[in-house]
Parts: sequence; C-alpha cells; structure tokens
Amino acid sequence: MNIIWFQNDLRLNDNPVLKEALANGGELLPLYIFNEDQIDENQFGIGRMGYFRARFIWESLMDLKAQLKNEGFELQILKGKVSAIFDQINEAKAINTIFTSKASDPEGLKLENKIAAKYKLQSYWNNTLIDIDQLPFSPQNIPNIFTQFRKQIEKRVQVKELVTDYDWTKSTMANVTFKSMGFEDLNIELEENDSRSVLPFKGGSTAATERLEHYFWKTKKLSFYKKTRNGLVGADYSSKFSPWLATGSISAKEIYYEVKRYEDEHGSNSSTYWLIFELYWRDYFRYISNMYGSKIFWKEGLKAVEDKTNSKDGFWSSEMKVSSQQQNLFHKWCNGITGDDFVDANMRELKYTGWMSNRGRQNVASYLVHDLHLDWRWGAAWFENRLIDFDVHSNTGNWIYVAGVGNDPRPNRKFNTKLQAERYDQKRKFRQIWLEESLKLF
Ligand SMILES: Cc1cc2nc3c(=O)[nH]c(=O)nc-3n(C[C@H](O)[C@H](O)[C@H](O)COP(=O)(O)OP(=O)(O)OC[C@H]3O[C@@H](n4cnc5c(N)ncnc54)[C@H](O)[C@@H]3O)c2cc1C
Repeated sequence: MNIIWFQNDLRLNDNPVLKEALANGGELLPLYIFNEDQIDENQFGIGRMGYFRARFIWESLMDLKAQLKNEGFELQILKGKVSAIFDQINEAKAINTIFTSKASDPEGLKLENKIAAKYKLQSYWNNTLIDIDQLPFSPQNIPNIFTQFRKQIEKRVQVKELVTDYDWTKSTMANVTFKSMGFEDLNIELEENDSRSVLPFKGGSTAATERLEHYFWKTKKLSFYKKTRNGLVGADYSSKFSPWLATGSISAKEIYYEVKRYEDEHGSNSSTYWLIFELYWRDYFRYISNMYGSKIFWKEGLKAVEDKTNSKDGFWSSEMKVSSQQQNLFHKWCNGITGDDFVDANMRELKYTGWMSNRGRQNVASYLVHDLHLDWRWGAAWFENRLIDFDVHSNTGNWIYVAGVGNDPRPNRKFNTKLQAERYDQKRKFRQIWLEESLKLF
C-alpha cells in the first residue's frame, strides 16, 4: 500500500501531495504521526508542545478526518518515534511509497532522510506562496536582505494556480487497522480556556475558511489591515491566519487568490497588498532555513563562523551552562512578572491563551535578548511550547532577526518597551486586560 503522511499540510484543498498520492492509485493509508521527539521536554525542561497547540492540531486532525471520510478514507492518527511507527506499519502491511510534503527545516529534513533511507519516499514542495522551483535565484543563494528577495519575486514570479482536480477514483482505503488514539494519549497537561483570548481559535480547514470569510467578506477588515495590524486588542486588528497556516489547514496560495478575488470586487489598496507582503516574509524565513540548515539554531545565528555552543539539530540539543540568576530572570519573563508592564501583559496573554500579537512578540523578544541579556533560544523554546501558530521557520527567523544574529545588516534591534507601550497602548487598554486580573503562577 501507499501512505500519504500528513505533516503541516492538514488540508484537502490545494495540496500537491494529495494529488500525487491519489494519482498513483491502489491502496492508500492517510496517516498523521504525533512525533514524540517534538512533544517531550527539551533540555530547558520545557515541553516542546503545550496544550493550546496540541488541542489546535487535534481539532485540525478531526476536521481532516471527517473530510477524508466523505471520500471513503480513514485517517490514522498515531503517536511515537516516526521511524518506529513506519516499521510497525510495514510489518502489518508492506509499504510501497510514502507521499509527503518536503521538509525545509533541519530537524524535518533529517527525519525525512532517515525515513527515505528505509522506504521509498516521495516528497513535494508545499505550503509556500512561491514554490522553490520558481525562485529567480538559487535556493542556496537567497538574498541577504528581505526587500531584495521580495522585489525580485514580485517582478519576476507569478503565484502558481491552486491544485485542484483530484482523482479519488483510482485509490481505495488500505485494508489495515491500528489502535486509534485519543487526545488524552498525548499526555499533555490540560489548561483552562481564558475568556480574554483574542479569538476562540479552532483548528481545521473548515474554521480557517470561516475566519477568512469573516475577515475578508463579512467585515471587509482586509481593506484596513495596514492601519490596524500593529494592534493588540480584539479579534480583527490582524488576520489571525497564522495558526491555520502553520498547520497547513489553509495554504498561502489560497489566501493569495482570495485577496485577488476581494480586490476585484472591493478594490485594491495598500492594505490588501500588505497582507501578501507579509506572506512573502513567511516564505523568506522558510527559504532562509532551507539554505542555512542547522545554523539557524546557533546562538550566533547566521553570522556565526563556528558553533561555540555545541548545538546539533536545534536549540534544544545544545548544552549550556545556566546560572540560577539567569534561570530566575527567564522564569519571570515566561510568567509575565518582570516588572515591565508592557512585556508582562504580552507574556501573560501568551501563557494563558497561546497567542500574542506581532507587536507584542517583537517587544518581548527584544526585552529577553537586549534587556535581560539571555540567550534568544530560550525565548524561542518557550514560544515553541506556547504559541498555537508555532512554525519553526517563522519563529526562529524572527528571533534571530530581533537578536541581531540573522542576515539583516542592523545588529541591534532593541525596542524601547516603554515608548512602544505609550505608542501602541496609549490608553492602557491592553495592559488593563492582562495585568489587573489575579495572577496565576505555576
Ligand atoms: C519573536 C517572534 C516569533 C514569531 N514566531 C512565529 C511563529 O512561530 N509562527 C508564525 O506564524 N509567526 C511567528 N511570528 C511572526 C508574526 O508575529 C505572526 O505571524 C503574526 O503575528 C501572526 O498573526 P496574524 O496571522 O494575525 O498575522 P497578519 O499580520 O494578519 O499577517 C498575515 C500572515 O503573514 C505572515 N506573517 C506576518 N508577519 C510575519 C512575520 N514577521 N514573519 C513571518 N510571517 C509573518 C503570517 O503567516 C500571518 O498569518 C513571530 C514573530 C516574532 C517577532
């Protein structure tokens, strides 16, 4: 049988992997694996996957499962070491080909290579706005400056058409069953929903489409995005598409073509353009990871000549000497009790909801690196645990950028958090929401 191994591409629409797997015909097993290595604690003692993201992924899987069922397929959801899971499956029924999305981060690539060494694996580029075969430069020669990357692409590349016309008739559900798992098998500590959350985020492509309908068509907020995107309070200051993009419940191309449809009807302006501009940032960080490999996890980042901290595959595998004073500062930062009210409000929002605005993220990241003088990778690790939209490329790319160790020519991106609070939270509305409630410590 063949396997379609879903990863961060949890959708039927615009999915080149699905199209190829179905075109191949024969028995097909749709599979998702909760990779144990990406859930367990890293060496900072922080679990890699916290409750909010786990629940969002679970909801996305339930939605995908229902959609596949309509087509006669049963999604299998398993947990464990990825390579051991494939071995178990292969024992139950021989695997012919594994179809999956191509990894572009070092950890994902290593895993892909490991599986490909044992099984026939066909991976397809997926999830970016501009595909790797369309780049007007070599993937190993991505411009150092984002603006150069974007301008060349805007001038020379057309976003590909969406993938459609799947042939569901050639394939049948593989005749094999495994013990299905429930959410509780993830062993992730449950957390309460906080009514202050900007949105009741729900995973899955159905919810992604609803959010897009709301933000574009019902409220027409897209037409004002550029003016509101630095906001902190409420559901609609920005699109909030990131969790669905991170899980692949919606593709960047789907959003792009919906923006174009919207522009045809309601007119284009700097706001409709700016949403696409931000999707180019997302692509940029993916191509940077793809080009630099494990260097993106080094403390000195892309500027490092050698890795002085012995990191191997990720920030989680490096060995660091940490003083108790540093640990204490980090604990305060995570819990939103640093004493800087703007940082604290943002950090509490993150802790209790799994969400933080882009403005907030820039400030708290700058504070950790440039005020507390801590290793940016600790902050990135906490973000990995907390953020429902965690994406290794966007997270690491933004952290190294703020820490001044990306390929950006400006070495110091320190934010003055007091001035930022005055500018973006003039009436203290945001800080009131997060600081005046009782403080829950863990
Ligand atoms: C330290 C730090 C860590 C971050 N970690 C993540 C992460 O793990 N996952 C993640 O998706 N984003 C991350 N971001 C980027 C950005 O903050 C979020 O993408 C954005 O806030 C999500 O909100 P939105 O969907 O409403 O964005 P919008 O403003 O509506 O933008 C639309 C989309 O464009 C993309 N985008 C916007 N800004 C950025 C950016 N700076 N970098 C990359 N893509 C961008 C996102 O896919 C977003 O959904 C991080 C930023 C910082 C400063």
